[in-house]
Amino acid sequence: MRKKIVAGNWKMNKTPAEAVELVNMLKDGCEAAKCDVVFCVPFIDLVPVCEALKGYKNIAVGAQNMHFEDNGAYTGEISAPMLKEIGVKYVILGHSERREYFGETDKLINKKMKHALRRGLIPIVCVGESLEMKEEGITHDHISIQIKRAFKGIDIDDAKKVIIAYEPIWAIGTGRTASAYQAEEVCAGIRAIISDIYDDETAEEIRIQYGGSMNAENCTELMAMPDIDGGLIGGASLKADFNLITGSVKE
Ligand code: PEP
Repeated sequence: MRKKIVAGNWKMNKTPAEAVELVNMLKDGCEAAKCDVVFCVPFIDLVPVCEALKGYKNIAVGAQNMHFEDNGAYTGEISAPMLKEIGVKYVILGHSERREYFGETDKLINKKMKHALRRGLIPIVCVGESLEMKEEGITHDHISIQIKRAFKGIDIDDAKKVIIAYEPIWAIGTGRTASAYQAEEVCAGIRAIISDIYDDETAEEIRIQYGGSMNAENCTELMAMPDIDGGLIGGASLKADFNLITGSVKE
């Protein structure tokens, strides 16, 4: 039985003081939720958010990106050991905004995946098709390539730790959500891809989130789908609604 996991992706929002205020508003509700909860916050908010969550067992903190080396001449970057030392457990990798605005490739994402796992961080790896791909009917092919490249060289034990977030690009921040059936179909397809690469047991264990305009109104239906193991939430993670989403998880 997979435990559901709901992660908030705050993107480039909230100063450190605002971040602590938001976490203090949300943390008791998230602590009581029946799913794992992760706050993926901007780098500068990580330390105060980890502090604000001391003693909270159900909530973990995640970064939104990470470099693939431990240290070196990489101006402006943050490494896995830096994140680990302050108590970060998860890292979002390959978000479509990083692919689009920062030129992140499947190859780079694979390097980051391997490094995160080597250093004990859990990747939340994002995959998803554009509107054009959806209309062309190549969603499954595209996601299959993204997953095969992201998991290249990752052994079966590490693969089981990874969270996959299915995020159709056309649904991110647009208010357009995939219907529960559309999202379920793709998430079930992702499980089949994992089974092909590894085996059925790994496919059964790995957790797959849906992300893309998930909110307090549509979360119950999406979360009820058998292959959707939680959500990666952007806009709705910045307000009290986030607790309605974590609270919608029944088991
Ligand atoms: C995201 O950025 O991962 C996301 C799903 O955003 P939103 O919920 O705002 O569509």
